[in-house]
Amino acid sequence: MVFEEKITHLKTWLGKQPKALKQGISVLLVLGLVVGGFSFVKAQNACAVAVNGQVVAVVQDQTKAETVVNSLIKENQTKGTNVKPLQSITYQTTEKNNNVISEEELKELLAEELTFEATASGIKVNNGLKVAVRDKATAEKVLEELKNEYKLGPEFTVAFRETVNVVNVPVETSKILSLEDAIKRLKGESGVPRYHTVKEGETLWDIANKFNVSPEELQAANPNFTPERMQIGQKIKMVGVADPLINVEAMAEKTVKEETALPQQMRKNSTLPFGQSRVVQKAEHGLKEVTYKIIAVNGLEIEREVVNVNVIKEAKPLIVERSAQTMVASRGARPSGAIISPFGQRNGRMHTGVDLAKSYGTPVGAYNSGSVVRAGWYGAYGNCVDINHGNGVVTRYAHLSTISVNVGQSVEKGQSIGKVGSTGRSTGPHLHFEVIVNGTPRNPVGYI
Ligand SMILES: [Zn+2]
Repeated sequence: MVFEEKITHLKTWLGKQPKALKQGISVLLVLGLVVGGFSFVKAQNACAVAVNGQVVAVVQDQTKAETVVNSLIKENQTKGTNVKPLQSITYQTTEKNNNVISEEELKELLAEELTFEATASGIKVNNGLKVAVRDKATAEKVLEELKNEYKLGPEFTVAFRETVNVVNVPVETSKILSLEDAIKRLKGESGVPRYHTVKEGETLWDIANKFNVSPEELQAANPNFTPERMQIGQKIKMVGVADPLINVEAMAEKTVKEETALPQQMRKNSTLPFGQSRVVQKAEHGLKEVTYKIIAVNGLEIEREVVNVNVIKEAKPLIVERSAQTMVASRGARPSGAIISPFGQRNGRMHTGVDLAKSYGTPVGAYNSGSVVRAGWYGAYGNCVDINHGNGVVTRYAHLSTISVNVGQSVEKGQSIGKVGSTGRSTGPHLHFEVIVNGTPRNPVGYI
């Protein structure tokens, strides 16, 4: 039945009714029209969503807007607890117009407009908030993994060098990091390792590529490093690495069996003709058990101290007798290599020797004949050898990778006493060479 037909029927039916009833029905009809009209107007209304009092969008109704806000809060709950928007959100009725947007559009828009805050677990280093993660369990896992990463072996105990604690903090959800990102941040902004250990077949260019730096930058950060002579296991300083926010110190006492070097002894024998020598005794390796106290920071050994040496088997020195006439005093020979850091003041500190450019593993020759007065770890010098040449002259060879002489042993001019390394406080393989005259370091250049 169409509308007009309905009306016609109604009119016909009304005509048949008594007057009072007619009036009553008319009132009802008018009322109906008013209510109907009102609900029609109401359906034409919409809801304006305001952020900090500024209308940002119009949606169909408030319930829809609230659903969107709640779903955004729910999504942020993966970041922490007590999630709430930092801005105030208000709703007001407005006239429906062509600008009504969908729930999806509103969600996208509010995700941009709103910032959420949550209660998270903050990691404080020396009382400064450094990173925030979801909860206490995650924060503790971050710290545990950081320690484990730098625990160099089961015998090591690890501790943070700084005061570290975990506290509840309100923080913007966009600043709450995942477990992996929090670890990276604490290790240094970019997550790039501070040192790279050279692997088989790797070139400087491979390494530069891998860490997104130029070979020139790498070369500049490692001035003593010769790309053509790169060694497997060699440590290269990386560039573009921020300082770590937490430093992990690992400490252990380690006992290792070490073969002692083959000592040599030279004796003068005035009965031997000029230039002649003879072996009096063949050398035999000794064996010792050495206990080291090792301290490493962020996986890099900084200190190795001998705490105990237990000689299991004494070494037998090679004893050679030489004609006394070959033992004439001769001028010393400074180990070869360009001087990359001279003797004298350096960064406000006295550099007591010269740094010579030499590749890792290059044999180091004694400056002159003499007797070994030090052969072992010596603090910042790392593996270090001192040779006493008599007349108050001692030469020192530092940062060696290996030492092949023992204290008390006699050496000849140029005889190998060890190999170039980067032990102790050293930024790369080189030889630190000192000439000490009557206890005072002198410029070795004057002694060449
Ligand atoms: Zn030096």
